[in-house]
Amino acid sequence: MQAITLPIFPPLRFRSNMDKKADYAVGDIVRMKKAHPCGSYEWEITRVGMDFGIKCRGCGHFVMLPRTKFEKAVREILSKASE
Ligand SMILES: [Zn+2]
Repeated sequence: MQAITLPIFPPLRFRSNMDKKADYAVGDIVRMKKAHPCGSYEWEITRVGMDFGIKCRGCGHFVMLPRTKFEKAVREILSKASE
């Protein structure tokens, strides 16, 4: 008789990847999925926390938005302020 093994969902590994991805700091430059009306995809992070403050590198426009919304809008981090 053989025991049925169910695939185990790896929440810890998944979680750690999420944490790594969500490592944003003031001064980081990020590329967005959508372009700003001015044509720029690049934004500089000026504030982190519950809400994120970002400044458009094309026109200097400043936006505040919730972290969840910010993370969905970001495609990639172009440069880290700490490196
Ligand atoms: Zn802009």
